[in-house]
Amino acid sequence: MINIPKGTKDVLPDESYKWQYIESVVRRIAKNFGANEIRTPTFEHTELFLRGVGDTTDIVNKEMYTFEDKGKRSITLKPEGTAGVARSFIENGLSNRAMPLKMYYITPVFRYERPQAGRLREHHQFGVEFYGAKGADTDAEVILLAYSVLTELGLNVKLNINSMGCEKCRKDYNSALKEYLKDNLNDLCETCQTRYEKNPLRILDCKVETCKKLVKNAPKITDYLCDDCKAHFENLKSLLDLAGLSYTVNPLIVRGLDYYTKTVFEFVTADLGSQGTVCGGGRYDNLISQLGGGNVPGVGFGMGIERLLMLMEAKGINIPQGENCKVFIAAMGEEAYKKAFEIVSELRQKGVYADLDHMERGIKAQFKYSDKINAEYVAVIGDNELAEGYLNLKKMQDGSVEKLPVNGLIDRF
Ligand SMILES: [Zn+2]
Ligand SMILES: [Zn+2]
Repeated sequence: MINIPKGTKDVLPDESYKWQYIESVVRRIAKNFGANEIRTPTFEHTELFLRGVGDTTDIVNKEMYTFEDKGKRSITLKPEGTAGVARSFIENGLSNRAMPLKMYYITPVFRYERPQAGRLREHHQFGVEFYGAKGADTDAEVILLAYSVLTELGLNVKLNINSMGCEKCRKDYNSALKEYLKDNLNDLCETCQTRYEKNPLRILDCKVETCKKLVKNAPKITDYLCDDCKAHFENLKSLLDLAGLSYTVNPLIVRGLDYYTKTVFEFVTADLGSQGTVCGGGRYDNLISQLGGGNVPGVGFGMGIERLLMLMEAKGINIPQGENCKVFIAAMGEEAYKKAFEIVSELRQKGVYADLDHMERGIKAQFKYSDKINAEYVAVIGDNELAEGYLNLKKMQDGSVEKLPVNGLIDRF
């Protein structure tokens, strides 16, 4: 027997409704915010992620599914959703459309990492990308969109925000941070020691205890913001106040990707016991230009769908199942089966979810099966019904019975 590859998961037919439910909530809310779906390929040129995601991130350094195709091109399965959207935006000249361009995606992403709860090697992400608007009102809108989705799904979340500044103020901050860490360089974990020169900001969200302790009293980036970044951050806070969405300013949030500027945010939940991040995002004003496009600002977020599902299940949130079978026709005998087949076909043509037996079951077993698929009504057709031209339609919920002409069943639904 051939098994499923490590870190991947089947979504079985009796659980796919959960995915469809989350996706339907996501699509509805994104649409209400004026966002349309964008679909980009599962794989891209590796170069896109090196330039777009940043070559000092863990994703790019350790976790990418990269391979050489038969044409000797380096190809990578997308490890996140943003870079592909940015590439498409530039390649298709979307900056000529009316701005802002509000997009969302639902996509599989691939990371070669040790599989952990809710973090498979292939998992799925919902994300939004709003391009073209530089104001904090767009940041606030993106945050509110994420919040609407998370609360609609029944999760309790808290919002943490921070500003990472721009290249200008980050330069000052990086030197202040390096100065602060200078004497304790040896106490940093190995990864952070390399980060110290390349990307000191990332030391702030290191999960290693000694690093966490060290950065606790580090200078705060929000104290180093230039006037423009400061005004942007203040504006965001007042808009969130206006929307009645409470937040905590957490200066240690820097997000894992190199492309963020100004606003960064996370939604965390305590629904799984310990605090966990369910959504992360922020502003990236330099991503498009970094990838060879124009000077187009952007803001967005991503959230892992497996993780959402895990949280919803842990909380016991009831996920609505799709439509059940409307009417099941139990047939006895060859002639009756033909009639049932004909009626079911016509009902389906009318758009009604109708079914009949395909396993040569006896009448009792057919009733049992109709119960298993939660059929709302069951009609029995046998030789008697064919001879009399009438049948009984049973409503399974209360056992009530209607007498109908055999051919009247089609008009009944
Ligand atoms: Zn700045
Ligand atoms: Zn560290």
